[in-house]
Amino acid sequence: MNIHEYQGKQILKSFGVSVQEGLVADTVEQAVEAARKMKEDYNSDWVVVKAQIHAGGRGKGGGVKLAKNLDEVKEKAGAIIGMQLITPQTGPEGKKVNKVLIAQDVYYPGASETKEFYMSVLLDRAKGRNIIMYSTEGGMDIEEVAEKTPELIFKEEIDPKVGLQGFQARKIAFNLGLSGNAFKEMVKFVGALYKAYESTDSSMFEINPVLKTSDDKILAVDAKVNLDENGLFRHPDYAAMRDTTEEDPMEVEASASNLNYVKLDGNVGCMVNGAGLAMATMDIIKLAGGEPANFLDVGGTANAQTVKAAFNIILKDPNVKAILINIFGGIVRCDRVAQGVIDAYKELGNVPVPIICRLQGTNAVEAKKLIDESGLQVYSAIALKEAADLVSKVLA
Ligand code: GDP
Ligand code: MN
Repeated sequence: MNIHEYQGKQILKSFGVSVQEGLVADTVEQAVEAARKMKEDYNSDWVVVKAQIHAGGRGKGGGVKLAKNLDEVKEKAGAIIGMQLITPQTGPEGKKVNKVLIAQDVYYPGASETKEFYMSVLLDRAKGRNIIMYSTEGGMDIEEVAEKTPELIFKEEIDPKVGLQGFQARKIAFNLGLSGNAFKEMVKFVGALYKAYESTDSSMFEINPVLKTSDDKILAVDAKVNLDENGLFRHPDYAAMRDTTEEDPMEVEASASNLNYVKLDGNVGCMVNGAGLAMATMDIIKLAGGEPANFLDVGGTANAQTVKAAFNIILKDPNVKAILINIFGGIVRCDRVAQGVIDAYKELGNVPVPIICRLQGTNAVEAKKLIDESGLQVYSAIALKEAADLVSKVLA
């Protein structure tokens, strides 16, 4: 589960990671009020207005703006709140901004130069270990750094038996070219960051940039946090940070019906039980000349309710020209699934696209008979090849 930058920073702060401070605002008035409070606390007129959306690259898209006084806060927050922000990560349609973070300006001049670093903590699945990835080339596109100058990206592997060791944090600070107080601050920062990552059951923390200020503080200026959904039951306070307005509405509806749904761009909707069979079904659709419109796993119990909920979600996608139902009846009997399909179909009334229903397993023959005698616009099949041929036929 993704959360906003301001929420990620709240979590980081609670584990002792120093962050660029800020206050969140939903309206221009709140934004101005927040800037006033920031001035009281930090004695500076300058703040940064930062769009809060679940996507990075906001700076490039015009979603991060420096404001030097309250009038500018009003003007910039006014422009950003409600805008459709397009960044390299949002897709061409962009994302609507509902909130801004009014953050302290931390790029102030001082005794030494400011420096931007990159740092992330994530699970390296090949190694089965957490790693800290970091680079002197922060602030910009880390993907570009990885492609053009991979030697500038360092990785530190954490042994799960002993956790992050002091020498590893010092090595990171050293490789980032730090000395003196900034070195000490970085060692503390890395330790607290790793602790936060581990304790929250996260799958990724990405801080880009980590800033060395002109007075040698080390701060998280940005925070991209991905919490592992499987661990959320242990953290109800983090689960409450979910912002469904940032998610695909169809995926939100599907998860409410306990369906595993991922929207794709094709023309053939599919409804399958089991993730492996769902993947195979998507391959079959491609071989038949179609493109899958979604991934949808209805899970172990494919009854009339789940079938209906799945129909409803698939049919909301205007690109869908046909639906392929592919259910294997192992524990669930095919004739009951067939009855579920028929009931759901009748309840929905007019289903505007042809349906191919392939049921295999226990009582497959009875199921085919039920479908064939239903008088509905549903093509039945038992073999997968037959189903694929029917997909080609209805698309032609
Ligand atoms: P992203 O573009 O979505 O990754 O958002 P970031 O939070 O990383 O901010 C983008 C850029 O805005 C940073 O790389 C900085 O260059 C700039 N920025 C962020 N905070 C400040 C600040 O306090 N002062 C100034 N002058 N620039 C800032
Ligand atoms: Mn960033």
